[in-house]
Amino acid sequence: MKVAAIFSSLLGLALATAIPTTNDLERRDPSDKSGNSQFVLQCEGVTIPDQGGAEGAGEGGTGYFYSNVAFNAQGTKIEPVACTDQDGTCSNCLFSGGGLSSDTNVTACWNPPAGKAGCGISFSYNGYDYDSQNKEPYCGHENGFAAFSFDLSAVAVTFTADQFRGIYRGKQYHEPDFAEVLKRARDHGCERVMLTTMSLDGAKQNLELVRKFPDMCKMTLGVHPYHAGEIYEAQGSRGHPNAYLETIRKIGEGLIAEIPSPLAAFGEIGLDYVYLDRADKETQQRAFKDQLEMATEFQLPLFLHVRESTDDFISIIKPYLPKLPRGGLVHSFAGSKAEMLQLVELGLDISVNGVSFRSDEQIEMTKHIPLSKLQLETDAPWCEVMEKDPKIEPFLATARPLPPNRKHNKFILGQMVKTRNESCTIERVGLVVAGLKGVTREEVAEAAWNNSSRMFW
Ligand SMILES: [Zn+2]
Repeated sequence: MKVAAIFSSLLGLALATAIPTTNDLERRDPSDKSGNSQFVLQCEGVTIPDQGGAEGAGEGGTGYFYSNVAFNAQGTKIEPVACTDQDGTCSNCLFSGGGLSSDTNVTACWNPPAGKAGCGISFSYNGYDYDSQNKEPYCGHENGFAAFSFDLSAVAVTFTADQFRGIYRGKQYHEPDFAEVLKRARDHGCERVMLTTMSLDGAKQNLELVRKFPDMCKMTLGVHPYHAGEIYEAQGSRGHPNAYLETIRKIGEGLIAEIPSPLAAFGEIGLDYVYLDRADKETQQRAFKDQLEMATEFQLPLFLHVRESTDDFISIIKPYLPKLPRGGLVHSFAGSKAEMLQLVELGLDISVNGVSFRSDEQIEMTKHIPLSKLQLETDAPWCEVMEKDPKIEPFLATARPLPPNRKHNKFILGQMVKTRNESCTIERVGLVVAGLKGVTREEVAEAAWNNSSRMFW
């Protein structure tokens, strides 16, 4: 059977910023209130009301608040036209020009969180409220800070080349829009995307994109269990170097030598017993072992896939893990809690997306992923978060609105495509995980960001 799906797929792991910095700035139209991270404010020359503190020193003080708020547009600072003190704790600044499409009023109020002696400043911006980061070190006289309290953390996203090239069921419907997809991701706080390779062809396509978008993208290298058959198709007997794998090795050696290397991980490798028509168990296991051998040479972290095959997966991978100190991530995990805990026990991280929240068993599993092992992904263009599912809907109440979407045959550049998942939905994955675990979204975002950064970036 010819498998129509050309899974020369680009899969991504996207990481979004967790800790805003004053250099990390982006301009958005002030009328756009769709996101948290669009408008980065700096306070400079702030004088904090007297809490026994003079300007910046924490002592003395003058009992008023003055904030000279600056707006940074893509690295260029826009000074306010004027700032006025409104009362003891708030000041208001007007911005005009500087690339803004309309005048913008920013009110900054000194508003330390209860029980915290430090500085806390909240903003409202054309009527839209922002809080400064509610964590240490937050606004100080010296520190610039960002006017948002939450941003996303680590994310894995899968892109099939096909859909992001406008191809659906083998037919071209629209122009490739990967640049727009990345832009939307970025607008929604997603800063890094890992393109996951599933086959040799996919590696070449991914590399093209990584070369084009090096600031945001890295890739993995490996053969997915669906493609395991390809490896052995054109070769002779066992024991001889396999041409397909040797090509992978050559590409890997070349990329690893680059500084910085475009390679983030070895994978996607693993086992999938749901789709045995794509490759039988024996072929999958052989491909998994052969590639684990190669992974030990490369010393990259692993990007792993496991479906309905946990026992075999564990018995194959276990002896290799001591030789792979950077560990690995089991991505798009949708198994049971018991299976998840077995994988965590091996030291592996787990990442979840929309398919991890569908059944009660999966929800139970997600609740129990330790924050120290959690990563987030969208697995775009698949694995959407089902917003109307009553099990998760309440957690999505505060999700930022997404850009408009249209059917693929009515495509407009700059809009999303119906049912094609994208990295910009990663916030929704984070919100559901936070809701299920009963922790704040900041905790989830930060943990996942740190875990992904540590492992891959
Ligand atoms: Zn997978």
